[in-house]
Amino acid sequence: MISKIPYGRQDISQYDIDAVVDVLNSNWLTQGPVVPRFEQAVANYCQAPFSIAVNSATSALHIACHALGLGLGDWLWTSPITFVASANAALFCGAKIDFVDIDSKTYNLSLDCLTHKLALAEKEGRLPKIVMPVHFAGQSCDMEPIYNLSVKYGFRIIEDASHAIGGFYQGNPIGCCKYSDIVVFSFHPVKIITTGEGGIAVTKDSLLAEKMRRLRTHGITTSPDFMRRQPETEIWNYQQIEIGFNFRMTDIQAALGESQLRRVDEFVSRRHEVALRYNSELSKLPITLPWQDPKARSSYHLYPIRIPLQGSGLTQRGVYDSLHREGIGANLHYIPVYRQPFYQDMGFQIGYCPEAEKYFKEAISLPMYSALKNEQQGRVIQILNTLFN
Ligand SMILES: *Cc1c(COP(=O)(O)O)cnc(C)c1O
Repeated sequence: MISKIPYGRQDISQYDIDAVVDVLNSNWLTQGPVVPRFEQAVANYCQAPFSIAVNSATSALHIACHALGLGLGDWLWTSPITFVASANAALFCGAKIDFVDIDSKTYNLSLDCLTHKLALAEKEGRLPKIVMPVHFAGQSCDMEPIYNLSVKYGFRIIEDASHAIGGFYQGNPIGCCKYSDIVVFSFHPVKIITTGEGGIAVTKDSLLAEKMRRLRTHGITTSPDFMRRQPETEIWNYQQIEIGFNFRMTDIQAALGESQLRRVDEFVSRRHEVALRYNSELSKLPITLPWQDPKARSSYHLYPIRIPLQGSGLTQRGVYDSLHREGIGANLHYIPVYRQPFYQDMGFQIGYCPEAEKYFKEAISLPMYSALKNEQQGRVIQILNTLFN
């Protein structure tokens, strides 16, 4: 029986296990010393001063939108080629959602489409409050021109970097917030590093940090600067000053995250090795391999190939089925979000973003993770080469 090869999975060491067990043997399972330590470690790694760890990237995106004041009647724009959570975050806040079509090479949101859409929106008086670029597959969007547009049109930027911890743009770590207000990472097990479930929001703005910290835990502050009444008149040294959530990360998760973060560069290097081998051993096939922007170093969360609709002799479906028959858990990232029944109910039509539609009909994500064995990758390569011959 050959074992199944997924498209992505975690890479857990004995150090990770020991770190989690240490917390289980300690006094605090949650809200202890490890969460702040993990936050500091992520902030240091990203070269940004503040980070707020939460129970998922979805929660991080939610409090990031909330902290930037996204509300009823506002617009948030994001890419259609993303996980639904990017768009859902806007709806959690009562805002309206719109999508900017993708670039045909990077599969990130297209700068041309964004520029064009903003000019039109300005005329119609419906400019977005937030634009959320998604660093698809771990490759940074071209952030500098997006930032320049934000200055011109007055929108805020949240980078959905769920795929992208360990990646770089213009030589700086993704997460440094040079061209954005907030950057969000996911620690779901298929992502670059994991906490089981978890996410984090990184920012260089102390007020946004304080606000997100409050929203993580019910809207409660323990900082006298933010209290509404004189704290000395109260027995308890905390006050709820707005409505928030329970999005806290546990110390158990943070310990795993802290241990995993030590290997983030090693993980990304290994992913690059896997990518290089695919690049060379699939180069003769009539498929499109992922293009790399010289301004960025991808963290290679995904390795999406495209089987062109015409000319390869095979279809996306055919390749997908053949891989699955051989125990290879190839996957599709993603169905354009607006094609989901829930979003179609909001009025989005099939075909809304033509480039995203084309991508969706051709793409397949091959297995890509640091724990992928050479022999397993060899099987994937061999199956593909046989299929196309
Ligand atoms: C995984 C993912 C999320 C959500 O992450 P969770 O930690 O599972 O909530 C959001 N956006 C993108 C692009 C993702 O890939």
